[in-house]
Amino acid sequence: MQAHTHRVVIVGGGAGGLELAAKLGSRFGPRCVTLVDLAAFHIWKPSLHEVAAGTLDIHREGLSYFMLGKSRGFKFVRGEMLGADLQAHCIHLAAVRDAQGEELYPPRDLAYDTLVLAVGSKSNFFNTPGASQFALAIDSTAQAEKFRLKLLRALAHAHGSGKGLNIAIVGAGATGVELAAELAQSCADVATYGLADFDPARDLHITLLEGAPRILSALPEKISTAAHRLLTQRGIEVRTGVRIAAVRADGLSDSEGRDYPADLCVWAAGIEAPAFLSDLGLRTNARHQIVVDAALRTSDPAVFALGDCVELAWGDEGRFVPARAQAAHQQADFLLNELSARIRGADLPRDERAYRYKDYGSLVSLGHNRVVGNLMGVLTGKGLFIEGLFARFMYMSLHLMHHFALLGAVRTAMLAIGRLLLKRGAPRVKLH
Ligand SMILES: Cc1cc2nc3c(=O)[nH]c(=O)nc-3n(C[C@H](O)[C@H](O)[C@H](O)COP(=O)(O)OP(=O)(O)OC[C@H]3O[C@@H](n4cnc5c(N)ncnc54)[C@H](O)[C@@H]3O)c2cc1C
Repeated sequence: MQAHTHRVVIVGGGAGGLELAAKLGSRFGPRCVTLVDLAAFHIWKPSLHEVAAGTLDIHREGLSYFMLGKSRGFKFVRGEMLGADLQAHCIHLAAVRDAQGEELYPPRDLAYDTLVLAVGSKSNFFNTPGASQFALAIDSTAQAEKFRLKLLRALAHAHGSGKGLNIAIVGAGATGVELAAELAQSCADVATYGLADFDPARDLHITLLEGAPRILSALPEKISTAAHRLLTQRGIEVRTGVRIAAVRADGLSDSEGRDYPADLCVWAAGIEAPAFLSDLGLRTNARHQIVVDAALRTSDPAVFALGDCVELAWGDEGRFVPARAQAAHQQADFLLNELSARIRGADLPRDERAYRYKDYGSLVSLGHNRVVGNLMGVLTGKGLFIEGLFARFMYMSLHLMHHFALLGAVRTAMLAIGRLLLKRGAPRVKLH
């Protein structure tokens, strides 16, 4: 009789889930490891502001999940998870349709022995009137690409009408700040390709609206001050202490009744996990995040969770591990050992059973090759402020390290060189 193969199903091929599938797949192969994602290809989420601004081309950068599955030894199943029967150990997937609405795959159920939920997060509109209707979120590749096309249309319209273009970004965390800086640069670049009547210095107005007293409020004050200065130098208007009360088709208003005109509005003011997680029967919080313990276990012994979709205590001071790619990456590494032991039917030593988040610092890109941030000293635990070429190099290496985890050293190097060469023959911004 053939021994039962332990089936690990990982839902969500993002910063955490995909790295876990690739590493686990390399060890155990596609009979043991399945990855599910609603998309057909992967873009590293911290690059989405570049996709939205047109400085990163998804048709060149996207990594096919089927290709990764073949080379890293996991089975890829395309589909959106809608729910699960935790008693029967199976998840429910919706039908997958193509852009014309034709069914590619029917609705399916997928059985597991161990389930890992890594479905990330999306923007939280906090029930602000009009926000979900009129503001755009940059949570997925599809949304970022939709924004890019809207931006190109809005620029063409502004060029033809001579009216100027107002862009409002709500939320000055890393996403909002990086997007504002990238847009200022990319709109100026687009204008050089045939928009002779559009003068970015005169016609482009980007306003960054933040509820806290300073931008990047989760990061040290020195980073926030440097970023504020650079954004202002780029002509971006930064307003802090502003609570947005409503979003309309043509602008926003705050709790003090002030109006901000906007042809395009982006919402980047907080996150929540996908709502279906609260219906699974697992312990979740008000933001639909799954509550996990230090071993990333949920309230069901066969289900683990990681990344943005979890609430995980950090230390004893009531803090939680932040929703960041470096946390998702560390958690994937931690679960690799735990799941490997499960597949082998072994037990992990007790001291390997608790994950501790290590903050290595934060880097924020401000366009024009400028990056500011801090690196945490391994021994001192204190942050060291960095900017300039070294910060830029560290920022670029984060994306490369993610590719390295997925593709290995040789293919990452070939891809990086190929992209560098391709860039020489293409416009600085994607125009079509
Ligand atoms: C513009 C931007 C810039 C950022 N910059 C940084 C940064 O500089 N540094 C940093 O540390 N963090 C940054 N972040 C945050 C970082 O991207 C996230 O913390 C990280 O991607 C979370 O990883 P994850 O694996 O939990 O989820 P994700 O990477 O979001 O992946 C989730 C995956 O799940 C899939 N999925 C979702 N729902 C379903 C479903 N129902 N069924 C099947 N599949 C599903 C999605 O398609 C996606 O592939 C940034 C985020 C944004 C938006």
